[in-house]
Amino acid sequence: MGLVTEVFNRRELDELGGHIACGHVRYSTTGSSRPQNIQPLVVDYSNGLVAVAHNGNLVNAQTLRDEYEAYGSIFQTSTDSEIIVHLMARPEHVGKKDHLAHCLKLIKGAFSFLFMTKDTLIGARDPQGFRPLILGRMSAEGQLGTIGEGYVLCSETCALDQVGADFVREVEPGEIVTIDADGVHSSFFVPKEEIKPAHCIFEHVYFARPDSMIFGDDVHQVRIRLGERLAEEHPVPADIVFAVPDSGNAGAIGYSRKSKIPLDMGFIRNHYVGRSFIKPNQDERESVVAMKFNVVRSAVRGKRVVVVEDSLIRGTTFQKQARILRDAGATEVHLRITCPPTLNACYYGIDFPNKDQLVASRLKTIPAIEEWLGVDSLGYLSVEGLLAAVSKPKHHYCTACWTGNYPVKPVDMMDKFGMERGGSSGG
Ligand code: SF4
Repeated sequence: MGLVTEVFNRRELDELGGHIACGHVRYSTTGSSRPQNIQPLVVDYSNGLVAVAHNGNLVNAQTLRDEYEAYGSIFQTSTDSEIIVHLMARPEHVGKKDHLAHCLKLIKGAFSFLFMTKDTLIGARDPQGFRPLILGRMSAEGQLGTIGEGYVLCSETCALDQVGADFVREVEPGEIVTIDADGVHSSFFVPKEEIKPAHCIFEHVYFARPDSMIFGDDVHQVRIRLGERLAEEHPVPADIVFAVPDSGNAGAIGYSRKSKIPLDMGFIRNHYVGRSFIKPNQDERESVVAMKFNVVRSAVRGKRVVVVEDSLIRGTTFQKQARILRDAGATEVHLRITCPPTLNACYYGIDFPNKDQLVASRLKTIPAIEEWLGVDSLGYLSVEGLLAAVSKPKHHYCTACWTGNYPVKPVDMMDKFGMERGGSSGG
């Protein structure tokens, strides 16, 4: 449990042999934060040993699990991901010609899977392509020549840069990519008409690293465009613009460029403190936030400041930051958000809190949120503005946390009449 650098040291990594590997960093969305839930899950079933890593969240895992448990299956973890190994091990599925394809058709929701057997690495992506999955290639002359030739499957292109691999392409929604001694093989586990892209646009807003390409767009450039559009939609007279680092950085650049208000650095981020979002509970998140940011007094004193933040979820972090800015002498604080008000739960792998903890859902109006945060003005980017910053057709993106239009029915959250059960929760 913990960050990779806390868990593995160089010596342990050097001791790993073999010609094929599978690793995973996962913060807990479904299932509690406990050792059994660490991925890759490794199981030995009638077809042999398999390791499974999963990015995303399944929306019918609990429903399937209830059925399987009723017939005596024993689950080892509390994650949604484990259902796939139970499906694979089911005697009536093992003998199927397209064994994996058959099992993947039975699960719904967001999944970018990595499967590893003794001689094969397999990537599979849901028919909506909610989460990214990238294929890369390492040449023998690559930066890390000792590793040599081969292929890489990963979530973001920045990981390819780290190991000296070249970007080949994205694994397509609904595709299975198999890598074995003969190279790369592709197949689709659903017919073309069932492939309906719904890429998570929040990856561009917050989640992905800015040095990655996601869904065909450069994340950094998208975020700059979000900031530019935000300046058009919500202009305000001010002296400086700065970001809540790091995910607001590119948005602040865009806002500054478009508004011609000088870009400055109002907050300093402590890089020795981890990402607050991945801490499993709110107390830990808040203590991380307190240690993570400090204000640059000389930059904000006597100034009207525009602060650009990627998103406003609970709002508790910025409420503190607004107070810190005023204490440091800012005369006006204007908050600009590079996405629309987050009103709904995400069922596809982003761990938003319950609706009643989402500030936009809880307080409802802009003036009420402004007052609660203690800011002079608040401006959210529109859904149209968000979609204008990315290059694929608008209907190829999921925007459910803002619009409530869920591309895949959240099966586990519905009662037998197809209505959402009370008290929706994220992830
Ligand atoms: Fe992404 Fe929001 Fe859709 Fe979840 S609901 S997949 S966070 S866009």
